[in-house]
Amino acid sequence: MTTEAKLIDGKAYAAGLRERVAGAVAQLKADHNLQPGLAVVLVGEDPASQVYVRNKHKQTLEAGMNSFEHRLDASTSGDDVLALVEQLNNDPAVHGILVQLPLPDHIDSEKVINTISPAKDVDGFHVINAGRLATGQDALVACTPVGCVLLAKDAMGDLNGANAVVVGRSNIVGKPVAQLLLQENCTVTIAHSRTKDLPGVCRGADLLIAAVGRPEMIKGDWVKPGACVIDVGINRIEREDGKTRLVGDVDFGSAKQVAGSITPVPGGVGPMTIACLLRSTVIAACAQAGVATPDL
Ligand code: NDP
Repeated sequence: MTTEAKLIDGKAYAAGLRERVAGAVAQLKADHNLQPGLAVVLVGEDPASQVYVRNKHKQTLEAGMNSFEHRLDASTSGDDVLALVEQLNNDPAVHGILVQLPLPDHIDSEKVINTISPAKDVDGFHVINAGRLATGQDALVACTPVGCVLLAKDAMGDLNGANAVVVGRSNIVGKPVAQLLLQENCTVTIAHSRTKDLPGVCRGADLLIAAVGRPEMIKGDWVKPGACVIDVGINRIEREDGKTRLVGDVDFGSAKQVAGSITPVPGGVGPMTIACLLRSTVIAACAQAGVATPDL
């Protein structure tokens, strides 16, 4: 008899985290007259980015923080974007800066990201924060990877010694999530498009994290019985009736028959990203003000 995997409810976890952030913000205001502020820069009209930015603005305000939105025309020059980032770097009301990616092609994204003050880089993409994470120093860490590890710890408890396999090696998900898992004392394998026998590698995982961007690629028979499966993928596929639906990188239907716990898509990792962004903004604000970071 097979028992189905426990569903990891990212939506509920994220709601709880946002509540803890709101509590911390209220306390920081009362004790230190400190109101964390997040600035988001959006260049152009990419529809998905517009939805993300709207949700970030709404949830930032709901947490009691200041939210500063900067919407710039798609034709804005790289120099003008850099000038805005510098202005935000120097604004004491802004503790976190997020430049929504992708930027239009004529703008050098790497240069923009590396112009953000590392202390305000709440997306954790600045080379200084990536380097600090890789060398085990305090860092602002990319939000989706933090969300993955919070969910894995919640589902598995102690991650010490667990065999973790991360499929995907991007700078925004795969690499930072692998670094965080190393810090949790996992034995980490990073797999990618050139990995030999990917199904066999995945079958060795107590914790399997999929960040590939290929709909339903990871099948149930790639999953070790009882493993924890965290699916970062967000893929829009066409249904038979012509409408679209979201699926992950894991074939949820077959994987849930084998896994011990699994995140759904949607409702798993997705909602964690903004909650972790708010968390990072509080951490950044506390560091800038020289006050202790509340337990989040
Ligand atoms: P990238 O495209 O930057 O990276 C994908 C990685 O997957 C690469 O390292 C690539 O390998 C690897 N890969 C691609 N095809 C295969 C294959 N057939 N077998 C093994 N590995 C493969 O994607 P991201 O890291 O940016 O995003 C991954 C997924 O996560 C996407 O679906 C994205 O939408 C989602 N996502 C979700 C977020 C959220 O929940 N908020 C946030 C960010 C991303 P190689 O390096 O060899 O090319």
